Amino acid sequence: MGEISNGTPEISHSKRLDYISWHEYFMATAFLAAKRSKDPVTQVGACIVSDENKIVGIGYNGMPIGCHDDHFPWGKEGHETKHLYVCHAEMNAIVNKNCTTLNKCRMYVALFPCNECAKFIIQSGIREVIYMSDKYAQKCSTIASKKMFDAAGVEYWQYTPMNRRLVIDFSEIDWNSMQQVPTSPLKDLKLQES
Ligand SMILES: [Zn+2]
Repeated sequence: MGEISNGTPEISHSKRLDYISWHEYFMATAFLAAKRSKDPVTQVGACIVSDENKIVGIGYNGMPIGCHDDHFPWGKEGHETKHLYVCHAEMNAIVNKNCTTLNKCRMYVALFPCNECAKFIIQSGIREVIYMSDKYAQKCSTIASKKMFDAAGVEYWQYTPMNRRLVIDFSEIDWNSMQQVPTSPLKDLKLQES
């Protein structure tokens, strides 16, 4: 925004051009969800999107409901490992869905889905998987996932982000001395007044 001669701010009629793409937005949402994970080694997030670009499910890897994060193991070695308990991000995103069906939806996920999640993805009706990393490509579980996706006609492709970093800055709202509107009065206060 520039300034015209009398000091009045000049309003631009053109849109911003540095907005993020849909793919970037949904993948970033999956990465943000991963920040909620308590897993000390692998944090994965998944974001399910409808064919109208609406987010319909989000999940991250974590213990099942009622299985306390502090009471169940997060390790990978020994008799009892996290693998017995942890729900993967893809599964959580599917069961967290806020619509009736995931038919024709696509899933954004940080890591290529394992075979168990691939089954969930196929059965849920999701038609496309967009992933960032395929670091376990040689593992039997990943090979099985691809075999099932290919047979079921679920497309998958690796996403390369436009920006290496996307920073969320909570102080951004105060840029250009923007004023915050006063906070809403508390409900109790309102009741007392009326
Ligand atoms: Zn999985």
